[in-house]
Amino acid sequence: MLRRVPPPAPEAGADELPSPLEERLITLIKANGPMTVADYMSDALFHPQYGYYTSQSPFGTLGDFTTSPEISQIFGELIGLWLVQSWIDMGEPDFFHLVELGPGRGVLMDDIIRTSAIRPEFKKAARIWLVETSGRLRHEQQKRLRQLDAEIAWKDRLEDVPEGPLLLVANEMLDCLPVRQFIMTEDGWRERMVNVNETGDALAFSTAFAPPLNAPKLPPADDYRKGDIFELCQPANDLTEAIASRVTNQKGRALIVDYGHIRAGAGDTLQAVKNHAAWPVLRAPGTADITAHVNFSQLTDSVFDCGAAAHGPLTQGDFLRRLGLETRVAKLSAGKPEHVVQDIQSAAFRICAPSQMGEIFKALCISSPGLATPAAFDPR
Ligand code: SAH
Repeated sequence: MLRRVPPPAPEAGADELPSPLEERLITLIKANGPMTVADYMSDALFHPQYGYYTSQSPFGTLGDFTTSPEISQIFGELIGLWLVQSWIDMGEPDFFHLVELGPGRGVLMDDIIRTSAIRPEFKKAARIWLVETSGRLRHEQQKRLRQLDAEIAWKDRLEDVPEGPLLLVANEMLDCLPVRQFIMTEDGWRERMVNVNETGDALAFSTAFAPPLNAPKLPPADDYRKGDIFELCQPANDLTEAIASRVTNQKGRALIVDYGHIRAGAGDTLQAVKNHAAWPVLRAPGTADITAHVNFSQLTDSVFDCGAAAHGPLTQGDFLRRLGLETRVAKLSAGKPEHVVQDIQSAAFRICAPSQMGEIFKALCISSPGLATPAAFDPR
């Protein structure tokens, strides 16, 4: 089962008990009033005690979802080669920061470092930083990566990584950053809120009465109909600006891969996944993964605002094929027994085929202006 392409959410079972976080939020909302969707998402995913990423083991067949690097080693290998080529495009600096945002179980960085052995000078020049907020996942990353002969440090935020030439990668990280939602009403945009239902025993969506504050990028009301939803992920836009400013001031490149759409206006994309199936977004927060589609057109605007170059977005399938997925499948399969070849091929199919993760996931490159066109992103 693939992550973030789940079937429609089932009705929550009547026998499901509320999660501890749900009970706390119900009490808080009764006392203080409704909360924004972004604050809800933030608590559901990152609450220090009950948040999904803080308290659960999300990945793999026993977890709730799986990601491209977890499915096929080829994903990280091709990205490793892309990074080595980017380092060559940057003039082979003898020192640079290699950063991954939201490394999950550390599989992608493992494959990147392994592959980069093709150019030992790359590995020698790389100062590796993993930006991770979850202590639990940091621990998993440390366990996986400590056998690599590489100097790695962990940080909470990109801002804590020192300035300098940069190569950065983020896979499925931006889609868990909290989004605000706005609904078009007869009186214009109003924020969508998380409230309690009429009987006061479960969470339910509601709409704010007053116009929203601090929502600078809301689109003109004329382009929308009553009931339409517009999503704004300020943390994703801010992060993109921080990356773009860095690569404008110092040489560098970033690769953002995520589940998302190229044009704005996709409506309500908030979704929850639990045990590899869809789950009601407001049910038992802290026990399910919650994401929203990444709005790549908003990200690209942020890149241009900072004077950096943006390439793509490309579909993940095109990105991987152009980097040589088929050749790598053939190389890995050579001389292997039939069942291993089948595993290699079906994993490659899952990350690349349009019906699987190949179309819905997109790759965006943020680059220093003036560098060569990055591998795979040349216009065709
Ligand atoms: N990139 C991994 C994991 C994706 S899940 C993979 O492809 O398998 C999202 C990851 O982002 C988790 O590691 C989560 O803890 C981390 N994360 C979420 N919000 C973050 C933030 N604001 N800063 C850093 N990491 C974050």
